[in-house]
Amino acid sequence: MTDKIDTKTFKRSLQHSGNYHRKGFGHEAEVASVLNTEYQSNLIQQIRDNNYQLTKGDVTIRLAEAFGFCWGVERAVAMAYETRQHFPQEQIWITNEIIHNPSVNQRLREMEVKFIAVENGKKDFSIVDSGDVVILPAFGASVSEMQILNDKGCTIVDTTCPWVSKVWNSVEKHKKRNYTSIIHGKYKHEETVATSSFADKYLVVLNMEQAQYVCDYILNGGEKEEFLAKFKNAYSEGFDPNKDLETIGIANQTTMLKSETEAIGKLFERIMMQKYSPVKLNEHFMSFNTICDATQERQDAMFELVEEDLSLMVVIGGFNSSNTTHLQEIAIDYKIPSYHIDSASRIGPGNRIEHKPLNKDIEVTENWLPEGSIVVGVTSGASTPDKVVAEAIEKIFELKAAKVIA
Ligand code: SF4
Repeated sequence: MTDKIDTKTFKRSLQHSGNYHRKGFGHEAEVASVLNTEYQSNLIQQIRDNNYQLTKGDVTIRLAEAFGFCWGVERAVAMAYETRQHFPQEQIWITNEIIHNPSVNQRLREMEVKFIAVENGKKDFSIVDSGDVVILPAFGASVSEMQILNDKGCTIVDTTCPWVSKVWNSVEKHKKRNYTSIIHGKYKHEETVATSSFADKYLVVLNMEQAQYVCDYILNGGEKEEFLAKFKNAYSEGFDPNKDLETIGIANQTTMLKSETEAIGKLFERIMMQKYSPVKLNEHFMSFNTICDATQERQDAMFELVEEDLSLMVVIGGFNSSNTTHLQEIAIDYKIPSYHIDSASRIGPGNRIEHKPLNKDIEVTENWLPEGSIVVGVTSGASTPDKVVAEAIEKIFELKAAKVIA
């Protein structure tokens, strides 16, 4: 069980081993030019230079002022490309999608980077041999996965974003003081799985409603069985809400809605103050600022964009991308018709779009582009290359120009 491992000592020894790499291999310049060709777009640069908007015919595109690839993702993708270049003959594996973007993951497959298969919800590491190279993705990997790979004698290339590592460090601090980590996130998300593997005791809360429930329990007690059923799979083994909520620390999945993470942190702080008095707060509560700048900037830009008079929004990013979903939530809160797609191929043929409404399965909407002049807001998640955004914009221009609109 990962919670029995001395994670700090293990990470330290891993970092000092010759088989572990968390920087590139000196091929930055070559890789940068390849990445530029594969993922950047002249159209997007043109729109950026034109104050984030472009009009063609009936369509005005309004781009969010911060969108797309964040530096953590750029860094991870570049490291994966460098790894291929540095180890041309070796078998290279990746423990999960490098980032939540289908086109980038497909590109890696074409470069013969293999994904470790998942059988019945478990990764099958038996296929990985000693001497193979294994890439850990931007959102990290659990301690037990790192341990398996290290024990096998693999070369590990760790692309975990430093912002994610910062959260892990917070969790280590909670553990040192025997505090329970309250993690704002999705318990199944790879990043949260990795983060919780560093904790001794943890509870994952998805949203404000769940946080409020936990806070009511802290203040007033409640039915333990009901609590454990409500948070099934979202707490550490042996977690007891009657004992393990007396000292808590706050952590987060870096891609959650920033305002919600902050509000949840403040709620827990207030409740612990109420329960134990302001003088004793530090004996029961810890919190560090671990909200990633990139997530924050993309969400802030989205809040600015939705204030404009938009006919509709197109939000582009992997369907399993948490930060993209949160951008979509903002559009919904502002009651703007909004379409979440993962690639331009979801648009057309004709005036139709295949998209994923929030918390629902993919569906098709016909006649999604209205007649006449329209203003289309566009943004994309932190794992989406500019090229994918450009392709979607071009499709919208084409559709309106071709007058396929009913
Ligand atoms: S969104 Fe933030 S935490 Fe995630 S990879 Fe990008 S910079 Fe890192």
